[in-house]
Amino acid sequence: MKQIPLQLSKLDYSMLQQCMHCGMCLPVCPTFDATKLERHSPRGRIALMRAITDGRLGLSRAFAEEMYFCLGCLACESACPAGVDYGAMFEASRCDVESSRVLATRKRDLARWLALQILFTHPRMLRLAGHLLRHYRNSLLPKALHQLRLTRWFPSWVREFEPFCPELSLFFSDQLIKEQETPKIKKYRVGMLTGCVQDLLYAQVNRDTVDILLVHNCEVLTPRRQSCCGSLHAHNGNLKISRTLARRNIKAMERLAGSLDSLDAIISNAGGCGSHLKHYDELLKDDPAFRDRAKQWSEKLKDVSEWLKQIGIKRLPSGGEPKLVTYHESCHLCHGQKVSAAPRELLCAISDLTLIEMKESTWCCGSAGIYNLTQPEMAASLLQRKLLHLESTKATVVASANPGCTIQLEIGLRKSGRTLRVTHPVSLYAEAYRKGLNPENA
Ligand code: SF4
Ligand code: SF4
Repeated sequence: MKQIPLQLSKLDYSMLQQCMHCGMCLPVCPTFDATKLERHSPRGRIALMRAITDGRLGLSRAFAEEMYFCLGCLACESACPAGVDYGAMFEASRCDVESSRVLATRKRDLARWLALQILFTHPRMLRLAGHLLRHYRNSLLPKALHQLRLTRWFPSWVREFEPFCPELSLFFSDQLIKEQETPKIKKYRVGMLTGCVQDLLYAQVNRDTVDILLVHNCEVLTPRRQSCCGSLHAHNGNLKISRTLARRNIKAMERLAGSLDSLDAIISNAGGCGSHLKHYDELLKDDPAFRDRAKQWSEKLKDVSEWLKQIGIKRLPSGGEPKLVTYHESCHLCHGQKVSAAPRELLCAISDLTLIEMKESTWCCGSAGIYNLTQPEMAASLLQRKLLHLESTKATVVASANPGCTIQLEIGLRKSGRTLRVTHPVSLYAEAYRKGLNPENA
């Protein structure tokens, strides 16, 4: 009997028929660029998805591996003249791959359970892991393990990345941000999402985001009990948990704000999270209790730069330190959310900052969720390509609006001995503002 995968066949079939095989997506697809094989292209992958949905092809291990070789970067969506919704088909395919269990092994099951069902579903567990990791790194244990050569028992990816990983935040967002912060003059009321990786590694970016919002006359509500956005789960074939997390986040925001109606916007500062958060309406469309609330959520969800551009970015006067900055675009901010000009506008509002464009700024850096762990060779070659472009700009700072990209770039720069600083555009703005560059005087 032919296997009909549940999620792919649940999609509107016209989505799968939409591809007209024009090939416009081929030059922008990093995996096709690397191999020149049709099956590694968006067009080839869509043909495979359609064949499986039609029952002409079984859901095989080869198909599963193909779906995990795809970065999910969505560059193909930006290039596609037919408006193909590759992201939805990609998520459905990965979900079917997981249901079919063609890739299942005990080790893989354990890693997925730990990451998707424990750490990234329970914020307290993730923070506990963060605390333990911070203590471990600050102790003498890492040095002792290296000296005794016990690190050889670690998984290869831990040995590879551990020495170059960014430091964990000293404080988490809850310790840096009050639940409700009100500016001197209040014009807007916004909800703020602090994320999980952002919170663990770059909580200061969340503080900077709140500060910028206050400068722009926004009252900021940051619910304490928020969860991971669920993008990691959706991109790794677990739409069920992704939906649970979406419901939790909506409820947490409603609890603090009274209702979503009372908010002018809901702010995310992480490109990957924002892209997924904007699709809560799609994710919960079959849930009668949440359908309308999720629709409202998605309408209000904005990347921080997108929101600031909408209400008018205040220019900071000169007087600070001159900076040469280049901008790396997070795939899910530029291709997923189509936000490309706003972060640049935010950077250019800092008078002492010179923005230098890099070649292929929209080309994936190889981070792509956990792609750098699951496909290390391809991820490393994409990272090298990115580092060469970064270097040729002669910038001293690279701005990136997604924690996954920031980690990937920081690791790459440290490994190659380069000294560029990687930071979020909001942090550059907030730092300049704190130096006394008051926009009201601009
Ligand atoms: S998501 Fe990225 S890697 Fe995957 S098919 Fe599209 S362009 Fe290629
Ligand atoms: S650009 Fe769009 S329509 Fe053309 S081959 Fe790629 S996915 Fe299909």
